[in-house]
Amino acid sequence: MANADRADWHAALCAIVGHTHVLDSDDEAARSYLKEWRGTFSPVARCIVRPESTEQVAAVVRLAAAHDLSIVPQSGNTGTVGGTAADDANGQILLNVDRMEVIREIDPDNATMTVEAGCTLGKAQRAAADAGFYLPIALASREMCCLGGNLGSNAGGLNVIRYGNTRDQVLGLEVVTADGRVWDNLSGLRKDNSGYDLNDLFVGSEGTLGVITACVLGLASPPRQRAVAFCAVSDVEAAVRFQRRIRQDTGDQVTGCELMSAQALSLALAYAPDAECPIEASQAWYLLIEVASAARGRWLSGIFAEALTAGRDAGEITAYAIADDEPGMDALWHLRESIPPAQSAEGASIKHDISLPVSRLPAFLQVALPDVAAVVPGIRPCVFGHVGDGNLHFNLTRPQDITDADFREYEAHLHRVVHDHVVAMRGSVAAEHGVGRLKVDEIQRVKSAVEIDMLRAIKRALDPHGRMNPGAVVRLT
Ligand SMILES: Cc1cc2nc3c(=O)[nH]c(=O)nc-3n(C[C@H](O)[C@H](O)[C@H](O)COP(=O)(O)OP(=O)(O)OC[C@H]3O[C@@H](n4cnc5c(N)ncnc54)[C@H](O)[C@@H]3O)c2cc1C
Repeated sequence: MANADRADWHAALCAIVGHTHVLDSDDEAARSYLKEWRGTFSPVARCIVRPESTEQVAAVVRLAAAHDLSIVPQSGNTGTVGGTAADDANGQILLNVDRMEVIREIDPDNATMTVEAGCTLGKAQRAAADAGFYLPIALASREMCCLGGNLGSNAGGLNVIRYGNTRDQVLGLEVVTADGRVWDNLSGLRKDNSGYDLNDLFVGSEGTLGVITACVLGLASPPRQRAVAFCAVSDVEAAVRFQRRIRQDTGDQVTGCELMSAQALSLALAYAPDAECPIEASQAWYLLIEVASAARGRWLSGIFAEALTAGRDAGEITAYAIADDEPGMDALWHLRESIPPAQSAEGASIKHDISLPVSRLPAFLQVALPDVAAVVPGIRPCVFGHVGDGNLHFNLTRPQDITDADFREYEAHLHRVVHDHVVAMRGSVAAEHGVGRLKVDEIQRVKSAVEIDMLRAIKRALDPHGRMNPGAVVRLT
């Protein structure tokens, strides 16, 4: 950054995107771009630049390189790991793609849509629905996050068990590389073994390899039948057995399988006055399961009800309620969706976004829960998550009798205790939200030397001058 001449590069940026689309960090309009969800970082950018086309993105990247500035790609800024927490001191420009929101094409025969990176997930889903399709990425942030960020972070969400992560929807990308060239791979091919899978490399790279400007996404058929059940389970082993039964008995029609602890449920019930538990809330754990099929007819809820009854008869669940009408299903999902805001309202929480093979979740909880209670007596674990794909939000709410600041003192210790168990069981400490700036040290600590070397080699090959989102994902030294 030392060589950068502000007047020069600022004028040149304005010439590329128009002066109203270059914001200084202290502009009122810059606030939403510098907000950081967890409050862990205080982002300040050299400036925020909002190009409206792929050519403008490429020109900005080339200009930044010429002035020794670096680029932090940003879309909806809903990421929770500090992936877009720019650092002015290191000459970082926030490049936000929210003006690039065109749906370029929907191809019904190929069942694909081609969309620009700044299109919100919600808008893309509505366009897919209008064309008779379903874009199966289910995030509560859908009206704020954009496809560029969904791809950048390889977002997970509520229906990974059936449709996979964001990466599994991707059939092509358009990317501005770190040297400011455009890689156009918007072919939408379903088969292409003509070299390394570069799409897969950019998806989940969190802006550290290039700027994604557009994508081709595969579309599914919209669900025509759905049913949702809320079940009480006495322990997580039974929950694991039961989710296997439901998958098998419904012929893999499960689209969501969420686990929540009794503590998480009771926080949600206390927080949301309109949330109601449809069964007696007397167990330690609860499951919310959704099944869906694109096939016509009304047979799915019958099969589902049979599987639920069989699970209860086998002692895997102790009680359940089932709904197959929209208000009933919404009411059950409302219980699950009320947990994150309920937890925020309870004061500081120390979060872990972890994944394990589903079969190992019971063993993990058996050791991790007592261990965190030993570190902070009175700690309130608020455990929930996408148990169907092994992803838990192992979140720890502060004890009622200590302050947020005092609780935060334990953060590093608690992360270590939890992550050590996860790693010992061959899990991941960054399951769906990514690494960002938050977990760079932890990744370095828990990954093998051979893996860190490969991550660095890829970074150096595609971004030799370290200009794309420096500070995120992997350190080069
Ligand atoms: C209420 C709420 C619920 C959420 N639920 C979930 C959930 O269930 N599952 C889940 O996985 N996440 C969830 N998230 C986190 C977040 O919404 C997702 O990670 C989302 O995919 C981020 O998209 P974004 O557009 O906001 O990306 P941003 O926050 O702008 O960026 C995220 C990362 O991608 C990179 N990036 C952004 N744009 C580009 C681009 N054009 N090219 C290259 N890299 C880019 C950034 O540099 C950053 O590293 C939730 C967040 C909130 C606030």
